[in-house]
Formats: sequence, structure tokens, C-alpha cells
Amino acid sequence: MDNSKRDYYEVLGVPKGASEDEIKKAFRKLARKYHPDINPDNPEAEAKFKEVNEAYEVLSDADKRARYDQFGHAGVDPNFGAGGAGAGGFGGFEDIFDSIFGSNGFGGFSSGFGGFGGGSRTANPNAPKRGEDLQINLTLDFIEACKGVSKSLNINRQQTCPDCNGSGAAAGTTASTCTECHGTGFVNVQRRTAFGVISQQSVCSKCGGKGKQINTPCKGCGGKGRKGVTISQKIDVPAGIDNGQILRVSGGGNSGINGGTNGDLHVKIIVRPDPIFERNGSDINIEIPITFAQATLGCEIEVPTIDGKVKYNIPEGTQTGTRFRLSGKGIKRLNRNSRGDQYVKVNVEVPKNLTTEQKDLLRKFESSIDETSYSKRGTFFDKVKSFLNNLKQ
Ligand SMILES: [Zn+2]
Ligand SMILES: [Zn+2]
Repeated sequence: MDNSKRDYYEVLGVPKGASEDEIKKAFRKLARKYHPDINPDNPEAEAKFKEVNEAYEVLSDADKRARYDQFGHAGVDPNFGAGGAGAGGFGGFEDIFDSIFGSNGFGGFSSGFGGFGGGSRTANPNAPKRGEDLQINLTLDFIEACKGVSKSLNINRQQTCPDCNGSGAAAGTTASTCTECHGTGFVNVQRRTAFGVISQQSVCSKCGGKGKQINTPCKGCGGKGRKGVTISQKIDVPAGIDNGQILRVSGGGNSGINGGTNGDLHVKIIVRPDPIFERNGSDINIEIPITFAQATLGCEIEVPTIDGKVKYNIPEGTQTGTRFRLSGKGIKRLNRNSRGDQYVKVNVEVPKNLTTEQKDLLRKFESSIDETSYSKRGTFFDKVKSFLNNLKQ
């Protein structure tokens, strides 16, 4: 799990705003200090060395660093989301998602008591228990991921029953400690077997392991203390989010039990592929077909960008496969005020199904053209000639 990981800046001993150079210097110094060759048979140094390497791998890469700055370890860990959520494990997420969640009132939790065993046989069934985390997928269009978007999602969550404040007991009544198990949820049973008398712990049958007795169950929740509700959850997706990234809404999962904290809501982002734009980190790739005449004579083309169309002058004599760069027309980098670039690759498309007249025009053109107009053909056929000559020898 990520919980135990130290802050990468702390690992390298540099401030958050450290320059690339400062990071590199700090890394070199520490890598030398903890290098396994210098510290043979020292597992502590080896662990430090790994830690330093991991921190440098993230902080030296602009994209990874931006993700780390925004999302903490979760933003750069490909395994994130698979291991479940430990409390406090996703530090960096909190900051931006407090703003998402702050106004929804999940913080104000009433401390009800009793009512739940939750199925898990903990020592004390009445101890506060954290609510379960919830996960939901959010599918975005390419452009929404590029520019950021606000979405309202319907979330089915278990929420503390407002009628009984989670106690499960009807208004005006209280849950009482189970007289059979005295609140532990378990009883010791003596069983006679072929091997003698065995003392066994089993779930208290009187309270079902809850440790509490509810004489008059709350009508709102049937005595369960929580009930399923569908709420509308607003998610502010930051510009530049990528496929597979997870936004965490702190406290957006199920309500806690016995006064425990709420679980979190994990929103996994799925970005639909776009028919025109292809993403490469913070850059965008696009391919545009042009005609032989446009490539030869030069032309002005309209290039789609995520901001709309822009005009671009293709210079005379442009070869097929040439890439042009539209600076700053790429995708916003998370948590930074900069954008990637858009790369435009032009492909010359050869026309098909020409009329006899059109073919004649092309033949005339071909016979009129001087070989020196082709820069590659000349040198290529020179190479072929010398290759064939060498074969004959
Ligand atoms: Zn209730
Ligand atoms: Zn009991």
C-alpha cells in the first residue's frame, strides 16, 4: 500500500518548488551516499537507495511530477485503486477535492450508537467502523478530458439514517446492551466432543453479534442504522485528466458505523477515443491528408484543434509525412498553467480513378519535369547504380 510511502520531496530533501537542477543535484548526492556498491550488505541503505530512485523517477519527469503534485502517490502509482483505500493514504487528493465536497455536508456526522455488527467479527461490535469505499466509472469525451468539466453523478450509498441517527432504535427509545453477551457479540459455548469438553466462542444468538438489543426498531431503516439512498454528486474534473486516472471524493463513500468516518468515493475516469485527435501525454497528434498539388504548390489548410480551427500554411514542396508543430495547442498539464503542443502530420494522398484526360495531363507534366526537382530520387538511383555495379564485379 501507499500509506507508508514518504513524500518524494522529503525523500530528496528539496522544497516543493525545487528546480529540475536542484532535484538532479539532490538525487546524485543521495544516490552516491546510499549506493549498494558503497554500502554492501546494508539493507537499510539499499531501501534508501530504492526510495531515492523512485522519488527521482517521478520528480524528474514533468508530467509525473505534475500528477504527483496534484494527486500524491496515487497519481503516479499504476496500481492505485487495486488495493483498496487506507485512511490517509492519498494525501494529495484531499486538497482539490475538498472543494468538490466541502458543501455537501458529509462532514457533519452524528454519533449514533449500536445497531451494527457489520458482519465482521471484531472484538468490539460497537467500535466505530469506517464506511466502505465506493467506486464509480465516469466516461468523458476527449474534449471534456482536455478542458475539464463538471458532472453530476448519481451515487447509491449507504447513509446514516436521519430518523435514528444511526442507532437503529425508534425515536424515543434506545438500544440496550445485550444481556446475553454483555455487548461483546460473542458467547462461550461448552461442547462435548469425543475429545472431551471444548470451549468455543460463537456469535451471540440473542443479538446476532451486534452486542445491542433493539426492542423497537427504527421504521426509517428497519433497525439497520443506515439506509440506501441515491444522491447527486457533483464532480469537478480538472482539465488534462487522462484515461484511467482516479479522482477521490473524500467522505463520499458509505457512512461510517457507530460514529466511524465515511468511506471515500473513487471516480475512475474513462476517456472515449476521439476519431480525429490522439493523445500523447500532454501533446496531441493529428493526421491530415493533402493532395499532391497542395503539397507541391503549398497551400493554406484549416487544422482542427481543441480550441477550434486554425489556419496553417503548408509550404511549397512539402513532403508526405512531414510533421508541423502548433505550439501550446495541446492539452493542459494537470495542476500547471502550461499546455502541450499539437503535432500535425500531413500525408499526401494519391488520387485514384482518373479520366483519360487527367492521365494525359499528368503524363505531360511528368515528361516536362526536370529530374533535379526531385532531391531524393537522384541520390537514390545513384546508390542503386553503384550497388548494381558492385554486384557485377
Ligand atoms: Zn433509523
Ligand atoms: Zn448478544
